[in-house]
Amino acid sequence: MTQRRKLVPGRIVAATHNPGKIPELTALFAPHGFEVVSAGELGLPEPVEDGDSFEANAKIKALAAAKGANLPALADDSGLAVDALNGAPGIYSARWAGPGKDFAVAMQRVNDALAEEEAADRSARFVSALCVAWPDGHTETFVGDVRGELVWPPRGEKGFGYDPIFVAEGKTQTFAEMEPEAKHAMSHRANAFSHLLSAIL
Ligand code: IMP
Repeated sequence: MTQRRKLVPGRIVAATHNPGKIPELTALFAPHGFEVVSAGELGLPEPVEDGDSFEANAKIKALAAAKGANLPALADDSGLAVDALNGAPGIYSARWAGPGKDFAVAMQRVNDALAEEEAADRSARFVSALCVAWPDGHTETFVGDVRGELVWPPRGEKGFGYDPIFVAEGKTQTFAEMEPEAKHAMSHRANAFSHLLSAIL
């Protein structure tokens, strides 16, 4: 196994153009001495995410930003994996919202697909692959998840993406009804971050 590389606190690029993820990534990294700047703020282009896994796509985004900004970069590739849909929408979670990035449409598609399957099982998980890349091409990747159930109709105005239909195990509120701090503390990204923390920080 190759040696883990430690991440030294300082400036780090959040390689995402998804505004919903910036506060969550900042909340995870800032307490450890990082100044998080977004790829959007730095004017970095969005690379094509053509990997076949969350890990591969996280690596594509983190490497592109690290090389583009000449700084360490972190990327999250994440999505909703529904058990009765064999893990769909999975890495296509953003694409299910269509070109208008309309998540009301994406949530409806998930619910319709479950109805079509006549699925009694509404269990699902959010998955996050968190990748840190350095300008020299080295990467470290960590995967986390949070399990739960899908509800219908969508509930709550906070959060983003599929949050209004996801209730985490042991909770009654959807992720979109919870206070952001409470969601951030138990999310798939927080879980991936805890692996990162113990391995490279
Ligand atoms: P990515 O930005 O390419 O990784 O796409 C991830 C997509 O998965 C997002 O656009 C959301 O639709 C969905 N997703 C990821 N994390 C979350 C979350 O915490 N809540 C709700 N939806 C999420």
